[in-house]
Amino acid sequence: SPDFCSQIITPTCNTTFSYIDDVNKAIRPSMRDLIKTSYFRYFKVNLDKQCKFWNAQHFCATENCAVEILSPEQYNWTKVKNENLNPSKLGKIERVGSTARDGALETEEPETCEDLDYSHIDDDHQCVYVNLLENPERFTGYGGNQSFDVWKAIYSENCFPNTNPMSMIGEEKEQCIEKNLFYRLVSGLHASIAVHLSNEYLEPETGEFYPNLQVFMNRVGSFNDRLANIYFNYALVAQSLVRLAEVLPLKEFIHSGYDDISPAQQKHLLESNVLDPEEKYDDLLLNDIIPALASNSLFNTSTLFDPSSVDPKLKDEFRARFKNISAIMDCVGCDRCRMWGKIQTIGYGTALKILFESEDPKNHDILKFRRIEIVALLNTFDRLSKSVEAINNFKSMYLEHLEDV
Ligand code: FAD
Repeated sequence: SPDFCSQIITPTCNTTFSYIDDVNKAIRPSMRDLIKTSYFRYFKVNLDKQCKFWNAQHFCATENCAVEILSPEQYNWTKVKNENLNPSKLGKIERVGSTARDGALETEEPETCEDLDYSHIDDDHQCVYVNLLENPERFTGYGGNQSFDVWKAIYSENCFPNTNPMSMIGEEKEQCIEKNLFYRLVSGLHASIAVHLSNEYLEPETGEFYPNLQVFMNRVGSFNDRLANIYFNYALVAQSLVRLAEVLPLKEFIHSGYDDISPAQQKHLLESNVLDPEEKYDDLLLNDIIPALASNSLFNTSTLFDPSSVDPKLKDEFRARFKNISAIMDCVGCDRCRMWGKIQTIGYGTALKILFESEDPKNHDILKFRRIEIVALLNTFDRLSKSVEAINNFKSMYLEHLEDV
């Protein structure tokens, strides 16, 4: 495997792939438990949003593309004010509530500063709640021209205006330039999806899902750059989590999220086992996962995001283009793939928002987060964490296979 630092564009990098493997091994059990908690397993999404780029059909030939949604009685979430929370401490907290009516959700207008957002977030009357544990990201059968066109559209967002005056005298093909960070994020997302669909590949005879080494090698394992981009994304999201804990009182934030469910509804949700009676996320996230990621400066990609070295115009361009990618998700034909695509683009969007915007002093009072961004960020990190685990399992399978030959 190539050296991690040669793959990462920062002078302070001194990590290795195997270091990330070790950290991941240590936090994997906690990550697994964290995303099972009710705070992190429910995701609000509009699965019927029109694709605004072309006339896309929401069509996938197999039942594996379907998403199971919560019934309206289960997701009657309402907004309540909690007088006990200290407003000065919670200045950056966004509490968004909604009430069920005729099976759809009516939401209150969120008070976010959308100019700082790097992704589109569904928040309209067509939204539904999904239990992510019951709708895992895995092989669906979605493919062919449909998915190829979506990936093509996503990669074509990596065409930034060339502001270098020298390019004016260059040839026409120099009209736009590609950004390495942008490409790596997208390619890492693409590769991570491929790891999950290989790791839970459908055996058509039995209907069971199993790790398919051949599919993994063809799509990811034989490409060093794709593997490296997954690790790159892991380091980037890990760094954003460490930074988030520095700029946001995470514990209060998460607890205020639970206050968005009215006491009566909370009782109902507890009785019907929709909510866990005892959530362990405080310990898992704040005492276990984040300290393990912060314990070493190996994840330091900060020079990439330092406000004094980042060109503000380029940052705006980056934000607009990444936001476009999250909108392209509405053009994905398979519901299950679209939902996980949305979670991950919101997750990366939140990571970028934290890394690019939180150190900028002029954003101090306007930087806000919603529950869904934190849920998406942690689920995106879990996707990467599970990918790294699966890559190591595939490596063992590959070595065994070599011994057999
Ligand atoms: P594709 O993966 O479609 O790739 C197209 C081309 O892109 C390749 O030929 C290659 O040249 C290039 N490429 C491939 N990987 C990379 C990379 N990592 N970096 C750079 N270039 C690359 N399918 C599922 O079964 N389950 C899912 O959950 C799922 N989610 C999806 C989510 C989204 C947003 C999209 C767009 C598709 C999703 N798919 C999912 C479909 C899946 O990603 C593939 O498109 C499909 O399996 C067909 O694969 P393929 O081998 O033809 O090549």
